[in-house]
Amino acid sequence: MIVHKFGGTSMEDGPLFGSVADILIQQQETKKPSLAEKSGAKSGGMVVVVSAMSGVTDDLIAGARAAAEGKDSAHREIKATLLSRHLDVVESMLTHSRERLEIGGLIKEQLHELERLYRSIAVLGELTLRGCDAVASFGEQLSANILAAILRERGMPAEAVNATQLIVTDDTFGAAVPLVGPTRQRLQQRIKPLLERGVVPVITGYIGATESGVTTTLGRGGSDYTAAIVGAGLDADEVWLWSDVDGILTADPNIVPEARTLAELSYSEATELAYFGAEVLHPKTIRPVIEHGIPLRIRNSFNPGHSGTLITETPSLDRELLPPIISATGLSLIAIGSEDDNWALQMAARGLQRLSEAGLEVLMFSQSFSEQSLNLVVRKQDQAHCLNVLCREFGDGPHQEWSKLPVSRQNSATGTFRRLGDVCTLGTKDRVATISVVGVPGWSETGIASQAFAALGKYGARIIAVAQAATEQSVSFCIPEEQLTDTVRHLHRELGLEPRGTQDDIL
Ligand code: ASP
Ligand code: MG
Repeated sequence: MIVHKFGGTSMEDGPLFGSVADILIQQQETKKPSLAEKSGAKSGGMVVVVSAMSGVTDDLIAGARAAAEGKDSAHREIKATLLSRHLDVVESMLTHSRERLEIGGLIKEQLHELERLYRSIAVLGELTLRGCDAVASFGEQLSANILAAILRERGMPAEAVNATQLIVTDDTFGAAVPLVGPTRQRLQQRIKPLLERGVVPVITGYIGATESGVTTTLGRGGSDYTAAIVGAGLDADEVWLWSDVDGILTADPNIVPEARTLAELSYSEATELAYFGAEVLHPKTIRPVIEHGIPLRIRNSFNPGHSGTLITETPSLDRELLPPIISATGLSLIAIGSEDDNWALQMAARGLQRLSEAGLEVLMFSQSFSEQSLNLVVRKQDQAHCLNVLCREFGDGPHQEWSKLPVSRQNSATGTFRRLGDVCTLGTKDRVATISVVGVPGWSETGIASQAFAALGKYGARIIAVAQAATEQSVSFCIPEEQLTDTVRHLHRELGLEPRGTQDDIL
């Protein structure tokens, strides 16, 4: 049995839902009988896990934050946009009137429920992590229902299954920890019978529920993790993660068109890459599959003929070893600084602690003792929320808003800094990007960090912040977003990652 997980970009609109259905139907037709026999499944042994349509989880959370801030028209508008976006998919992809009516009705009901939730958040005037999870869980429920209906309409028996019935977690809202035993038991009880009846389960990624049934989420990007948990709990033969790139590449192919796909990686190499923000793989995904020795494949739903990247315990010895460059955009930098001498590690710890309690993820941080500052890289959409959380922690009163503080410094290179209390400045710079270079063992004698620094020095890149692992096997830089394309291309060339022949062509 194979678990197929589809990311949000693979399901951005109606026609793309159609392509996902085509891939699944084709996979079922070409499946080797031995695998089906092994799992005892008549359905061709297939389980599907879906993300929300791209951007939907961000919108859901933005609506909840707007509701908590009393911005009623903002959350209403978000709900209306989500409704029309999902109904568009239903209307363009479902032609049988029964499915179309039923799923259309279900979507309206679900979004009505979302509106009720937004209204109660607005009444409370506060968004708890538990409330945020309840809201964020809607995206996957909508996409799972739609995909299952499209599959049924194309003749494949399929059933949408809400992972709140399957993935049992603790109550760490926003980053819930799955409980292995109870989850396995539920998967076996609920999913095995479907497979035996030849029905393809379409499971919501990202979400789960506590033993008492309260909805939780596994953390942003957590659908990959769901796929791995489902694969482990059902003893899958393989887990395939379908997204919009050909696998794990030496660089983002939108930036470096000649980037090469890494055909094979070990579990530990892939974990390292995922940790540094390889979008196609959530860092927690590897552990459940390692424990069961289940191979993981990363494939491209826009290029299904490509074999992708295979991640296993023992990749073949003759594979090519290349250190990939991982880049991320859509980020903001936040700097907490002190102009006094009383900057202490404890202040950094306090800031990070409050952000984590508010369910905000810090993607990279670096601390400078000499400059008495802490640099944090966060997602652009979390920026305002992060600033207000830090404002409350370091400011004088409980209701301070960052945008209302007096400006102490402002320029395009460093961003805007505002004065906060007596000792602190809190600044932010929009439009930054991160680049991480991850060395692979055996690739070179010297650590990757010195090579990357040498390459960047030659190019004269403006580096805002640096974070480096003590092993010297990886290094991350934060740079202005407008410099990303040139910097990544330069690094890719300098580190010798281009396909053989290209370098000579340039010379
Ligand atoms: N929809 C969730 C998110 O955007 C989970 C995922 O896509 O993996 O974070
Ligand atoms: Mg993802």
